[in-house]
Amino acid sequence: MKRQDKLPIRERAALTLRAWRTVRRFCPGLLGATAARAAAAALQPFVSVLLSARIVDEIAGERDAGMLALWTALTVSVNFLFSVVKGCFDKLHSDRENQMWCTFGRLFSEKQLSMDYADVEDAAVQKQKDREKNNLFQFGNGLAQFVWTLRDMLQGAFSVAASAGAVAALFASRSSSAVMDSPLWLLLLAAGMAPGIIGNARLFRRNNALFLAWCGRMEPYNRLFSFFGFTLCQDDARAKDVRLYRQDLSADRELTKLEKAESGERGYHARYAANETLAALLSGLSYAVCTLFVALKAYFGAFGAGGVVQYVGMFAQFGSGLQKLVFTFSDNAVYTVHLKSLFAFLDRPNRKYEGTLPVEKRAFCENGDTDYELELRDVSFRYPGAAEDALRHVSLKLRVGKRLAIVGRNGSGKTTFIKLLCRLYDPTEGEILLNGIDIRKYKYEEYLSLFSVVFQDFRLFAFPLRQNVAAGGEYDADRARDCLETAGFGERLRTLPKGLDTCLGKELEEDGVEISGGEGQKVALARAIYRGAPFLILDEPTAALDPVAEAEVYERFHEIAGDKTAVFISHRLASCRFCDSILVFDGGKIVQKGSHDELVRDESGPYHALWHAQAEYYSA
Ligand code: ADP
Repeated sequence: MKRQDKLPIRERAALTLRAWRTVRRFCPGLLGATAARAAAAALQPFVSVLLSARIVDEIAGERDAGMLALWTALTVSVNFLFSVVKGCFDKLHSDRENQMWCTFGRLFSEKQLSMDYADVEDAAVQKQKDREKNNLFQFGNGLAQFVWTLRDMLQGAFSVAASAGAVAALFASRSSSAVMDSPLWLLLLAAGMAPGIIGNARLFRRNNALFLAWCGRMEPYNRLFSFFGFTLCQDDARAKDVRLYRQDLSADRELTKLEKAESGERGYHARYAANETLAALLSGLSYAVCTLFVALKAYFGAFGAGGVVQYVGMFAQFGSGLQKLVFTFSDNAVYTVHLKSLFAFLDRPNRKYEGTLPVEKRAFCENGDTDYELELRDVSFRYPGAAEDALRHVSLKLRVGKRLAIVGRNGSGKTTFIKLLCRLYDPTEGEILLNGIDIRKYKYEEYLSLFSVVFQDFRLFAFPLRQNVAAGGEYDADRARDCLETAGFGERLRTLPKGLDTCLGKELEEDGVEISGGEGQKVALARAIYRGAPFLILDEPTAALDPVAEAEVYERFHEIAGDKTAVFISHRLASCRFCDSILVFDGGKIVQKGSHDELVRDESGPYHALWHAQAEYYSA
């Protein structure tokens, strides 16, 4: 369905209701504050008009100074009271509305965290997410538009309800002319106002269609704009490369192109403004018809000057309230289209099967309660949309408490193997078993808790060091210190101003400490040790370390791994000597396996070639 397409009324109602529930859940208090503010904003002009009319009546009639003073004092104080109340509601509302943007952010964070990992790496899904985010945060479409229109709708409804009584009183008032008091005037007035209402509705619809089409056209520009304008030039991590390779020049060029494209949209703005002007003219026409009727009624003695002030004011409120209602109904057609695509993204189902078996209740456990055995049986895997398998017919067992090294050239499938072990992806063929049971049958959270992983592209957070080490778990300072010591961070820890409380990086704390890539890798290693899961998986854990630090990690490898089952991926074959067995990956397949001594002796095998290539390099 194209975005411009209008949705059936039922669907619009359902989407609007869901928007209401979403806003109520994510922004508690916002809807109440919106309603209170709308009521205060709608009622103030009525009270003002009613009381002013009494002043005019007094001046035109009795001219009693006491009464005049009373009405004036009442008008001023009631207006003052309303201003104070409205001011408070305004503040409450704007505070809640400012928070709204943060809480809408949570909507996307929750989705990103709960979606299948395959979708996190799927460019099409991430593009869909960016489109929905831009739509909400840059255009204010969908949920934000719902909140804003709700305010107008409530204000319109309050105005129409409050003025309806006054309009009824106007028709009930008796003049000296039977013609003026005829109920037919009701029809005549309705006919006079109809072009204004119908015309407004049409013009709003026309503008909505223009706006929707414009949003659609701006979508790709917006994405580029946010990449070149924000991500590329403002991301600290890219700052070195951007400066060195003058990528700011490319960004400038792209932004200029985008700005030109935007300014080419002048026709859109002109047409939008013309429709708005026409709508205002039609509203003016309706208002003129009503004013004429009030004037005629007064001329024929139905009420005095105060009545004219009162009824003309009421009609103005009635007209603007009605216009707001027409506008919100018409606007609803636009934001429900955006809501539909937002909810379609949020409802995107996870395809990964979630088992129910707790990991403690294992069917088979040979080596006691803390032991887990993993087995891959003829596992093949292909990334969604890829032309070739990244893993082919891999079969192996991870023996409890043993150390397994995996080596192989870039792109041979080592990281993919880890992703499958951690169930970030499920095999395309074959199965992975934990103590004899397909890992898909276990509760995912519990299964995941069996792994301590240091990924090649690990990330630390701008939190205190202790929080980085203990992560989400319970914090034990002595244990955190021990783990940092084991990972080789002990010496650096003693130089940190606030020890374990030192913040990493300056994003959140000004006195945070920037640590080097190698130091970061040690902290990531400490985090994995602290987690103490039965499987320790290290993907190039020493890539950023200097040779001395790397040698220290190797020396401590047995201490680091403890009684865990460890999988160790490394290009540095010297480190593999510490492992009980080694697998050599090539093109997604296991092409060799054995101990270091066995593999080195096999002169025809790839391991021998890799080993000697490195040895020669070092001896040279
Ligand atoms: P290694 O860790 O041995 O360097 P990987 O497991 O990262 O290799 O990659 C194995 C193969 O899978 C490579 O051909 C790589 O291009 C491909 N690959 C890796 N990640 C993805 C992905 N998210 N989508 C599609 N292909 C991928």
